[in-house]
Parts: sequence; C-alpha cells; structure tokens
Amino acid sequence: MFDKIGVVSDELVVLGGVEEMRAFAAHRPLGLVPTMGYLHEGHLSLIRRAREECATVVVSIFVNPLQFGPGEDFERYPRDPERDAALAKVAGADALFMPEVAALYPEGFATEVRVRGVEDILEGTARPGHFAGVATVLAKLLNIVVPERMYMGQKDAQQAVLVGRMIRDLNFPVRLVVCPTVREPDGLAMSSRNAYLDAEERAAAAAISRALFAARDTGSVDPDALEEAVREALVSEPLVVLEYVSANDAATLGPVKPKTGEVLLSLAAHVGKTRLIDNVVIKR
Ligand code: AMP
Repeated sequence: MFDKIGVVSDELVVLGGVEEMRAFAAHRPLGLVPTMGYLHEGHLSLIRRAREECATVVVSIFVNPLQFGPGEDFERYPRDPERDAALAKVAGADALFMPEVAALYPEGFATEVRVRGVEDILEGTARPGHFAGVATVLAKLLNIVVPERMYMGQKDAQQAVLVGRMIRDLNFPVRLVVCPTVREPDGLAMSSRNAYLDAEERAAAAAISRALFAARDTGSVDPDALEEAVREALVSEPLVVLEYVSANDAATLGPVKPKTGEVLLSLAAHVGKTRLIDNVVIKR
C-alpha cells in the first residue's frame, strides 16, 4: 500500500491504519465521504459530488459501534467491502479508509463529543447515545483526514445539523456539504437498512415517503397540521408503524418559527423489524 503514497493513480487505495490514512491525506484539496458501507446510490451521489469538487476523494467505511445502542443492529448491519470498493471506485473515490474498530478505539479510549440540545431530541430521544457516537467518530475522522470538504446526506437531516454545529463549535476547518436524499423510483429513501425488508415490507415502505410528500403538498407550514397529515396518510398502511413524526425548524431543529425559515418534517417508522427514517424540507 505504502508504495502508492505520493501518487494518485487509477487504482483505488485501501487504507486501514490511522497513520497510513494521514499520509495519504497529503493529496489536496480533499473531500471526505464518511459512510458505514453497503453502498447504494445515496452514498454514490455524495462520492460523485466530492469527485466534481475535490482533487482527492476519500470514502470512509466504518460501522461505528459507538452509535449503536444495546439491542440495535450493529452485529447484523449489512457488510460487503468488496462490492463497496468496486462501486466507490466507479463513482470516483481515490481511497477507501476502512479501519478496524481497535484502530479507532484502542484500549483506554475514553473521550466523547456531545452536542447538547441537538443530540437529545427526535432521533436522540429514540436512540439514547446514538449522536454522541456519531459526533465522536466524525470528530476523529475529521482530525485524521482533515478534509477541506465533508459530504453528508439530507436523508439523515438531524445528523447533518448536529455535525454542522459540532464543526462550528469546535472550529474544524472543513466545509460541510449536505446533498439531497436519493430515492427509489417509488419514493423510498435509499438506505442500507432497506436490505432487511422482505418483498411485502418493501412494497409497504413506499407509504413513508408518500405520507411525507402528501403532508408537504397540503401547503401548510403549521406543525400540528403537518404531523397530522402524515399520521392520517399512514393509517391505511398497517405494515408501517409510525414511531414519531415531528415538524421542526430545519436550520436549528427547534420549534417551527411562525413566519420565517424552512420546516423539517421528519419521522421514524417500523416496517416489520426494520426501523426506517425519512424527512422532507418544506419551504415557505
Ligand atoms: P450511512 O452509511 O448510512 O452512515 O450513510 C453515510 C452517508 O450517506 C450519510 O451522510 C447519509 O446521510 C448519506 N446517505 C444515506 N442514504 C442516503 C440517501 N438515500 N440519499 C443521500 N444521502 C444518503
């Protein structure tokens, strides 16, 4: 691997060690696309955007144990590193950073990054500790790779707000680029977890985005009306069990402002054993 450092070739460089990654990151300007792997078109859209904007594109693949709660799907999270490497290369990645858990969290690791007020609402209520895990691993990746730009998806809207706040609060010298949600033809937001769905669940899951679009298309920006429109639209799909739906100010995730700002309408729902999230942004 090391003989490749200093040359950005046609080949995809696969890096596992932190020091190896740091050395490769001498190629600049650099765009980082952090993922948990099992890549789909959503991830690839981020990689392509990074390819357009940066001389060097690094994709990290790390299923981060810190952001999974007890009883969640850490162990069975889908993994296919060889397919990921092929897809990432075609989309324009120069290097894959695929550290082992012990490389990022060696014995004695004790530090946590918390973004108070953002980590403890919406997804944070449902998944305690999740966002501390996200913020901590991203702080580490930013310190290791020091990218000029980092690319993330609007699919995980709260994550994007949280990471934006962390970047600002901790002065990471990076620009966060948030890219639109990529959807299947029937509207289902692409997600590695869609692989868990059987055929019947997969068909039913399209109701999630339909409900969000229906609420958006009412033209209302009233939070109660938007949330109610989603609930009502999902009543007719018994396989989709809504966990929460919430309208928030899209920039801060605080309460919807009466007159200004975009509205984020976000939800989590269970389809069989699979938990899915989705959202739409409503402009005034
Ligand atoms: P994950 O591998 O699920 O941690 O996702 C890695 C990155 O890809 C995150 O920034 C996600 O927001 C983004 N992402 C995941 N799914 C989509 C999608 N359907 N459209 C756009 N971005 C996505």
